[in-house]
Amino acid sequence: LTKIKEGKAEILVPKAERIYDAPVFYNPAMALNRDLSVLLLKVTKAKRVLDALSATGIRGIRYALETEAEEIWLNDISPEAFKLIIENLKLNFNENPEVDGKSAVLKGEKLLVATNKDANLLMNEKFRYFDFVDLDPFGSPMEFLDSSLRSVKRNGILALTATDTAPLCGTYPKACMRKYIAMPIRGELCHESGLRVLIGTAVRYAAKYDLGIEVLFAYYKDHYFRAFLRLKDGAKEGDRALRNLGYLYFDSKTGKFEVEKEFLPSRANAFGPMWLGPLKNQEIVEKMNKEDKAELAEKKKVAKFLDVVVNELDVPFFYDIHALARRNSLEVRRLSDIAALLQENGYHVSRTHFSPTAIKTDAPFEEVLKALKALQ
Ligand code: SAM
Repeated sequence: LTKIKEGKAEILVPKAERIYDAPVFYNPAMALNRDLSVLLLKVTKAKRVLDALSATGIRGIRYALETEAEEIWLNDISPEAFKLIIENLKLNFNENPEVDGKSAVLKGEKLLVATNKDANLLMNEKFRYFDFVDLDPFGSPMEFLDSSLRSVKRNGILALTATDTAPLCGTYPKACMRKYIAMPIRGELCHESGLRVLIGTAVRYAAKYDLGIEVLFAYYKDHYFRAFLRLKDGAKEGDRALRNLGYLYFDSKTGKFEVEKEFLPSRANAFGPMWLGPLKNQEIVEKMNKEDKAELAEKKKVAKFLDVVVNELDVPFFYDIHALARRNSLEVRRLSDIAALLQENGYHVSRTHFSPTAIKTDAPFEEVLKALKALQ
């Protein structure tokens, strides 16, 4: 074991040549994911939190040390992980948890509970118990989605990570159809589309419980998707969320895209169903950006990333200027020059966290293409 520091936590992690060879999983590249989760927990003030797939315990321990959460559960099915979580609790809270078979409890300033269970079992036992449930699996969170929707309190928050970008980005369409019951798209729009397919599936699962979903913040980064979803209580909320589902159409000759909010697609070659509503609650992301970041693991990266997110136009999809130029046999031009032309004509333009070479705009495709042509 070696000791690492991330945020305010000190964590024992197994030494391994490659992270997937380790008996208990720890990925330092996900520090930014955990930083952003800490910020979101801080601004939403969730009290009862479940880190359902905890591995070393890093996530739940950081939530305990860095947010106002009062009761934190850390669970993993692996006995090695469970042992390590207990060691890491001792290390960070200077107290010995009371261990009773497959659970351990530490009652200090905060209540910390470690369990060694199948996450689905635990979440079904803890019916509408948590204010915040975090699913951070290997690959897709889908096998845990149903139980997590039962385990989150009405109006609580569900946090999903998905690292199965190949299915969601259309490299393996069949895998996407199986897991997400949706048709993915390949090409320059695949990251935003993958995120929207993930959220769309969560919306469809939630609707049967008469729950709607509000997206507090959702993003793509470093080959994973992340979505913080607030559950909204009631059949009307379920209906409202379903109205934000729909389809994407894409013309690969020109790069023109169209979206339609319909329960069923009206044309052939539709991608989806997917979420076409907002990807952020502006107040929440602004508050996250204003929080003190001094103690975070990746403070500079977090600040830079949130700056883009806060200023990002929240409209479906974007124009990747490299792809647009290639598809229309034009030369690439600077984003700022294209943006200036569009803004002169009264349109809104922003960068997007999905791609450094793309813009989001409320201008129609023809106007964007005209701007690029004018700059040739
Ligand atoms: N959340 C951790 C972090 O931030 O470092 C990483 C979690 S790791 C990607 C996924 C974990 O899920 C593994 O430790 C694995 O043992 C655990 N796991 C897999 N299937 C499970 C199940 N059915 N119930 C509970 N834990 C499970």
